[in-house]
Amino acid sequence: MMAQEKPKVAFVSSPRLVEHETGPFHPERPDRIRAIHRAVRAAGLIDSPDPFPDFELDLGAMPQALFKAIEIAPVMAEEQWLELVHPPEHVRQVKRVAEAGGGVLDQGDTRIDANGYEMAMLSLGGVLTACDWVMGGKFRRAFAAGRPPGHHAEPDRAMGFCLFSNIAIGARYLQKQHGVGRIAIVDFDVHHGNGTQAVFDDDPSVFFVSMHEDPRVCYPGSGYEWEAGAGAGVGYTMNVVFPPLSVDEDYMTALRRRILPVLETFAPEVLLISAGFDAHLDDPLANVNLSEAGFGEMTRELVGLADRHCNGRVVSVLEGGYHLRALGRSVVRHLIALGADSE
Ligand SMILES: [Zn+2]
Repeated sequence: MMAQEKPKVAFVSSPRLVEHETGPFHPERPDRIRAIHRAVRAAGLIDSPDPFPDFELDLGAMPQALFKAIEIAPVMAEEQWLELVHPPEHVRQVKRVAEAGGGVLDQGDTRIDANGYEMAMLSLGGVLTACDWVMGGKFRRAFAAGRPPGHHAEPDRAMGFCLFSNIAIGARYLQKQHGVGRIAIVDFDVHHGNGTQAVFDDDPSVFFVSMHEDPRVCYPGSGYEWEAGAGAGVGYTMNVVFPPLSVDEDYMTALRRRILPVLETFAPEVLLISAGFDAHLDDPLANVNLSEAGFGEMTRELVGLADRHCNGRVVSVLEGGYHLRALGRSVVRHLIALGADSE
């Protein structure tokens, strides 16, 4: 096939997401959104004007996409969807801190401003908007580039820069609002997706796979391979641990030999990805050495799985990634792989 007739991948993000302030020198900072918006334009994926023309970032020579993504604005999430995962006390606690003008929600590093609750709902809204578009059939794949991230937030607590469990709410939303049955979530953020795991621990309808650096040396210190679900959910949680200095080949081998065979058997109806890019060689928050090409290669394998089982449907959700240049360049590789045909 020469040219693509219609866009296959939606880029769901709002320039407003820079308004989420986390405090000085915080790695989860507004520039992450600026870097991503710059990179998708530098790669020719998006044609609209850069909302941050004064932002300075040296991305280097960028790969050029052979297709366009469609840019979609996130719709603010409705509060009712939080209840799919979080008890009302946790929602009230986040609101209370925001209404008091901002403050700290976890052990010092999960900080919000007065607009923190609203920003969290916009970030979650991006995930739900992406789910709606993919289920509407217009696009097979969507990437929600929002912040705050979500995969460390547990049902009753904010944690690790995360307020609400965005991707877990997305999965429950797909089941409740769109009648989806089996869902797979693959989390390749370098940190264990403890929040997502906590939500689906005993649930055999959502298969959660987390690929991360060894919990003995990496935040949040959970995600050992013996953690494999509870009750009816035993066998539907898979933690795949990588030692420090692991490279693309280590991830690809684990994906092909251990993860994909299990997910082929599970046969999900929709694939969700917790796409953190902090396993990159240059990332300051961990010690795994993936390349940008490695993120593209992993994404291609996951798209193949989605084409075989999910009618191609993938909703990918930004988690971590703190080196701005590596983040922008890796997101581009991820989007190019999401937009490609795997058949
Ligand atoms: Zn992370």
